[in-house]
Amino acid sequence: MARDYYEILGVSRDADQEEIKQAYRRLARKYHPDVNKEEGAAERFKEINQANEVLSEPEKRARYDRFGEAGTTAGYQDMGDMGGFADIFESFFGGFSGGGTQQTRKRSGPARGDDLRFDQKLEFREAIFGGEKQIRISHLETCNTCAGSGAKPGTKPRTCTTCSGSGQVRRATRTPFGSFTQVGSCPTCNGTGQMIEDKCDTCGGNGLNQVTKKLKITVPPGVDSGTRLRVTGEGDAGQKGGPSGDLYVYLFVQPDQEFEREGINIISEVKISYLQAILGDKINVNTVDGKKPLTIPAGTQADTVLTLEGLGVPKLGNPVARGDHLITIKIDIPTRISGEDREVLEKMLDRLKGNAAKGGLEGFLGGIFNR
Ligand SMILES: [Zn+2]
Ligand SMILES: [Zn+2]
Repeated sequence: MARDYYEILGVSRDADQEEIKQAYRRLARKYHPDVNKEEGAAERFKEINQANEVLSEPEKRARYDRFGEAGTTAGYQDMGDMGGFADIFESFFGGFSGGGTQQTRKRSGPARGDDLRFDQKLEFREAIFGGEKQIRISHLETCNTCAGSGAKPGTKPRTCTTCSGSGQVRRATRTPFGSFTQVGSCPTCNGTGQMIEDKCDTCGGNGLNQVTKKLKITVPPGVDSGTRLRVTGEGDAGQKGGPSGDLYVYLFVQPDQEFEREGINIISEVKISYLQAILGDKINVNTVDGKKPLTIPAGTQADTVLTLEGLGVPKLGNPVARGDHLITIKIDIPTRISGEDREVLEKMLDRLKGNAAKGGLEGFLGGIFNR
């Protein structure tokens, strides 16, 4: 037993066209098979489209109100089957209106809008901690003036007289092998099933307008170059009340002067003096979380890597888990020293040489001074 179309869209019997459109869009977005993988969602989506196809067209709606489903001539399912049939034929015969895939995409029923791509640059720290980002996109929106019909307000698109609204025509062709019936897109209405005599001034009869829109997108922590975010329903609007496509935001992370990423770890270098390397010290280093203390152990060799745990990149999808910050120690050997320092160092060198004779500290200090 078929359900009531008003019930399916969740609107009252006296709902106006705008309410029906809104309800349809909301539900189509929710149950679109690309979005909703729950059992029964596809069935529900079909039902929603079926209800919308009838209720969004005042003539069909009036007939439905009077006679019920029987009054709406061919139901959605029949149209769908016919569409599939025609697709196969067109791919075999190429259609006879000369069109390829473009033609087969135009249907009398609702069609989903295109998905769009938008490239977004992010600063190094934005990618690590995430946040909100304002973007400006350009996409097709359903025309407000004509509510997507393409007809001047007060007028209505007429059912195409060539194809009686099916968007398709059959033509018999004689060949040496016999007579074939080809099904192709209607040349009068381009397969839309409708003819618009008074075109809407705003959209020129397309039912859609190119609009620039500001959007706020949420960037999750831990994204990297190549991460793709999907913004549902912000692609191009669908035709004839079909659902909108999605917007895909591709992220590109800008390099940082100080830090680099290696997976979920952050790497950087820090320069210390040879004396700090010998004696050890406690210093503050820059991290993406600000300055953090780092202990330099006495006797630290050049290119030693020290680890600050948990100050790396948050894992995408599980930001509580973070990588580490790995710091490579560079040792600064001065090219000039004051006379006073020179005296002290020369005394040390003498001692070193003395000890070397007995086999002493040379290994320890030599590593640093010989670099
Ligand atoms: Zn319009
Ligand atoms: Zn036609």
